[in-house]
Amino acid sequence: MSFSDLRLIEPLLKSLRQEGYTTPTEIQAKTFPHVVAGRDMLGCAQTGTGKTAAFALPMLQNLHTRKSHQPKKPTQGKAARVPTQRVIRALVLSPTRELAAQIGDSFKNYGRNLDMRGTTIFGGVNQRPQVRALQQGVDIVVATPGRLMDLINQRALTLNSVEILVLDEADRMLDMGFIHDIRKIIAMTPKKRQTLMFSATMPKSIQSLADSILTDPAVVKIAAKHATADTVQQSAYFIDPRSKGILLGKLLEDKVMSRTLVFSRTKRGADKITKQLNNTGFTAEAIHSNKTQGARTKALHNFKSGRTNVLVASDIAARGLDVDDISHVVNYDIPGDAETYVHRIGRSGRAGNQGQAITFCAHDERRSLRDIEKTIGKQITVLKHSIQAPPPAPSGAAIRRAAEPTGPRSTRPTGKPKRSKRGGKPGGAAASTGTGGNARAGRSARSRKAKPNASAHNNAGGGSARPKRNSRSAKPAAKKPRY
Ligand code: AMP
Repeated sequence: MSFSDLRLIEPLLKSLRQEGYTTPTEIQAKTFPHVVAGRDMLGCAQTGTGKTAAFALPMLQNLHTRKSHQPKKPTQGKAARVPTQRVIRALVLSPTRELAAQIGDSFKNYGRNLDMRGTTIFGGVNQRPQVRALQQGVDIVVATPGRLMDLINQRALTLNSVEILVLDEADRMLDMGFIHDIRKIIAMTPKKRQTLMFSATMPKSIQSLADSILTDPAVVKIAAKHATADTVQQSAYFIDPRSKGILLGKLLEDKVMSRTLVFSRTKRGADKITKQLNNTGFTAEAIHSNKTQGARTKALHNFKSGRTNVLVASDIAARGLDVDDISHVVNYDIPGDAETYVHRIGRSGRAGNQGQAITFCAHDERRSLRDIEKTIGKQITVLKHSIQAPPPAPSGAAIRRAAEPTGPRSTRPTGKPKRSKRGGKPGGAAASTGTGGNARAGRSARSRKAKPNASAHNNAGGGSARPKRNSRSAKPAAKKPRY
């Protein structure tokens, strides 16, 4: 099937040629006829399927062919020379600023050969340029709910001319607590409108939102819930959490990791990973919601342009982020649920490209990995590395022992450690642990020790994933976690 089979108008076909698209994706082929026919739609599709064009193309076509909705411009006199004030005819709601910006760019690209104007509205940046764009008149607004509500409350825009409303990533918007804003926004649009709702998943809350805002919708489902794209090869490493940084560094040394997105569970974690990478000669930037919008935009821009080849993200970037040719997604922390896993790894292997997803899995996270496998219905290949787990952290008692004065060694008898008079504890760290110093010295000795092991890393699975037992360890080896 080609785009002309879908009866797309020539200006759109021209834009698609300019974009280099030749064949509609499945969701585009299935969605287009319904939307052009003016029907409401409920779309269930995973990311990277071409969902944005699936709604943007027929919307642009509808807006173009239904021109009559714009206010009539006088054909004669002074008024004819004044540009007609445009009204907002289409509104797209998106959960994140990054996704809103991407959707806005897509509308610009697909609509470049049409007389159509759009703007993007999201928080975290100065509102003045957004208000100015609205004052100049736009046909299409792509917005995050929070800033849109702010501007509506400031009377910077009204929604009473909206003909087409889109809720993209609806499940994510609900997860992010936007439901009240969404309901308020929808109530401000005309009752007679076309509504399209897209969601990667269809929990009950989404179904009931769909029931309340859609009229006799066409339902398009593309991939089974939780399916992962076949274009992404999935693997995992069992790794001690303390060695993850070393493993990541070793993996990134491989040139095939040309554009890598690393996911951290927490924002602090993302900053820490980024710092570590930059300290070891990589160029990495972090993106998460504690960063200013300027910093987020810059980090994304640098990653897209190839100035940085590692972007460390919290889950804010898991949805919607569309960067060409992400070669690898690394789950530095295993995601809390399979759904997040699917969205994270869906950043790679997009639009037919090949990608790799690598998950770091700590000993106590193996169950989560199995749950993910069960949900996605695929086995994740476990690769081996030869990075040894550092010795277990000393117990509180050992740290206290290490902090106690050791006394002159020369006078201490060899053999069993002396019992302390206070509390009957062993007299010195030197005797009990062999480190001969305080707890701090013990820590730095461990981190020094961890590094040389990294050089034995074997990405192809040649080494052993399990650490060798350390017979000199103060603790019984059986208590050591195995990776
Ligand atoms: P989306 O799922 O909308 O985020 O799109 C994922 C990626 O696929 C984007 O980079 C689009 O530019 C690209 N894309 C969308 N439709 C097509 C198509 N028909 N042919 C080639 N690439 C496409």
